[in-house]
Amino acid sequence: MAKGAVHITVERCKGCGICVEFCPTHVLGMSSAFNAKGYHPPFVVNGEKCSGCDLCGMYCPDFAIYGFKLPAPSVAGKAEGVKQ
Ligand code: SF4
Ligand code: SF4
Repeated sequence: MAKGAVHITVERCKGCGICVEFCPTHVLGMSSAFNAKGYHPPFVVNGEKCSGCDLCGMYCPDFAIYGFKLPAPSVAGKAEGVKQ
């Protein structure tokens, strides 16, 4: 199960490919589709490999992508069982 997820704002993207190059687990690929500006945005190829490290977000010059950590299922399950 994926530890993280990535959000792409397709219309902000200028198609530089930096996020694809720098993702350490090869989550991203470049789409063959165009956005409204005429650039090819990235898309998620291997979502289950995303760690939520946000390297893509740190390198993107256009603030068009970011990664985030997902809550661990086991921790969430324990929290639900706690009586207060
Ligand atoms: S780094 Fe940003 S601008 Fe470049 S392809 Fe990725 S999302 Fe688009
Ligand atoms: S958050 Fe990290 S693992 Fe996920 S797509 Fe971005 S760089 Fe790759």
